[in-house]
Amino acid sequence: MNSEISIKPFRECRASVTPPGSKSVTNRAMVLAALAGGHTLLEGALFSRDTLIMAECLQKLGYMVKLDENERTVEIDSAFGCIPNSEAEINVGNAGTAARFITALVALRKGGRYLLNSDDAMYARPIKGLVDALKSQGAEFEFLGEENRFPFRIKTSGLRGGEVSIDAGESSQMLSGLLMASVGASSPMTVKLSGGTVSKPFVSMTMSMMEHFGFKCETDGTSYKVAPRKAGIPPMSPSPRVYRIEPDATAASYFATLPAVVSGVCQIKNFGECVLQGDSAYIEVLKSLGLADAENMDGNILVFSKDFPVRPETVEVDFNDISDTFLTLAAVSMLLPFNLRITGIGHTRRQETDRVAAVARELRKFCETVEEGDGELFIAPYTRGELLKKAKAETLVHTYGDHRIAMSFAIAGCADIRGDGSSWIRIEDPECVSKTWGEFFEVLYTARKDSKKFRIVAVDGGAAVGKSSVSRECSRILRYMHVDTGSHYRTVAYGLLENGVDASDKAAVASALSKLKIGAMLDGNSAKITLSGNVVPDSEIRNERINMKVAEFAAIAEVREFLKSYQRSMADFGRSNGFEGMIMEGRDIGSVIFPDADTRIFLDADEATRAARRAKEGISDSIKKRDELDRTRKTAPLVCPDGAELIDTSNMTKSEVVRKTLSIILES
Ligand code: C5P
Repeated sequence: MNSEISIKPFRECRASVTPPGSKSVTNRAMVLAALAGGHTLLEGALFSRDTLIMAECLQKLGYMVKLDENERTVEIDSAFGCIPNSEAEINVGNAGTAARFITALVALRKGGRYLLNSDDAMYARPIKGLVDALKSQGAEFEFLGEENRFPFRIKTSGLRGGEVSIDAGESSQMLSGLLMASVGASSPMTVKLSGGTVSKPFVSMTMSMMEHFGFKCETDGTSYKVAPRKAGIPPMSPSPRVYRIEPDATAASYFATLPAVVSGVCQIKNFGECVLQGDSAYIEVLKSLGLADAENMDGNILVFSKDFPVRPETVEVDFNDISDTFLTLAAVSMLLPFNLRITGIGHTRRQETDRVAAVARELRKFCETVEEGDGELFIAPYTRGELLKKAKAETLVHTYGDHRIAMSFAIAGCADIRGDGSSWIRIEDPECVSKTWGEFFEVLYTARKDSKKFRIVAVDGGAAVGKSSVSRECSRILRYMHVDTGSHYRTVAYGLLENGVDASDKAAVASALSKLKIGAMLDGNSAKITLSGNVVPDSEIRNERINMKVAEFAAIAEVREFLKSYQRSMADFGRSNGFEGMIMEGRDIGSVIFPDADTRIFLDADEATRAARRAKEGISDSIKKRDELDRTRKTAPLVCPDGAELIDTSNMTKSEVVRKTLSIILES
């Protein structure tokens, strides 16, 4: 079964993405839950081929593992002490973590007999370092194929403890597996590194998680001291130990790169929770190369496109600590205006496939020069014109069954290199993404928005609900134009009062309105209303006098009509000033001015909160009276528009409201 998928390019992403749970964290957490005993509930777990393999391995060993894919939870029951089944046939597929962690785990069983099998692809992947270490502790191996390779039978007699050395130079998973299993040794274990290891952040991840599960592991950088877990059955507790799995930082790297490729902005939800994974540093790489800007929003991160810098020198990036993400950058290197040298990736030759060779082979289809070193890649891209010639038809990218190759090249393929939206990259075997993110292509599809459209966001609400500060902040972050229509009514009220007109005299209001000359000017990204060519200073429109009168003027149909066409014209004003959208705040934006706005939000807060917020601003304002007038007037009363998202801000901080608002905008 070899299907293919064409990647449809687009321009401008405005996406909000929740990456799946981390594979590395999910699989470690399952093993640690088995070792820790008792009842563990994992939340936000990844459901993918590799994690299902791990769950099945543990089930085969006799652990109770309950999976709920809808809830994204895994429950593990483990009678503390020993592996329940002394015999089992286990298949680790092509899951590196399961291969190494389960091999180390079964070694804990006294009198155990296990058969460990795998996919063919795993036969070539390293396990020798771990095999040698376990042999030195008494395990006996019988290899059914090549020496020191999968598949094999293992006779186990428990881990004695004491000193053990391991060469984890080919895969840090061997070290991680041994460290976790060491908690079940009969005496303290000192694991010495011979020959170094790779991907240090993964070892740190293992240690942090061990600590979280109540195990002790200390290191001086070359040796690791692991204390044996306390013996005995842990007391039955009615509530499970709950462990929250952080989002997958490597998965996040694809959508962090997308704005650089297609321009626009992408929100990656809960990225702030990624504290265990080294790959979260990939965003810093994008920033340091000048390919993206990022803004942290209370745990969510927003990544923006930037104009690519042209660099005369080859740019070198060491990916040793974040090697799973090297493919993400390598795949888009064909679009960059500089040469790239990627180092520190030798060990990835022994991962799902020889990743260095595979990526080099595929990149040669799109780049002028691709040179492969042992642990590095040098990529010299074509100029855009040459790439266009090369990419005449759709070019097929082979994925070698490697999910990361599929996802990385899919991101590159989103670039609209011809400018007509026609596709130029086809991905072979797209189903391989199910290893870590089965819905990847669906999520990628949702990232495309109609780029030609000027987006309108209507934010309505009563006085002092936080409309202005939130709209201003969201506009700044999204680089949208901001329009405060309250200031329109305030300015008009000021103009009328200055002309000696009272709100009770409708005829005088109508005639004075026709003489008011209003216009617009930009102040940063704020569109300001002008009166006779000037912006009326805040001190003149935000005071007690105007607060008292503004709602009375705003209730007059002629005043509203006068401002309606002006406010609607702001969309053209924003567009002609190069903005991609605007946030307009007021009382009737989503109901009257732009009832077809792309996003409609209504902010509310209880009375006490609003009064306290106003008092903080030091302005006397009879909010209640003003709101009453605004709500009960005949023309365009203050209402929560149909279909608007209502946010009650009473118990929220400003940044929480901003975060929520941004999510609504990016998801609508
Ligand atoms: O938002 P702000 O408090 O500055 O608004 C002042 C007044 O302007 C409101 O009390 C309301 O009477 C009027 N207004 C309106 N419709 C809008 C914006 C403001 O009636 N879209």
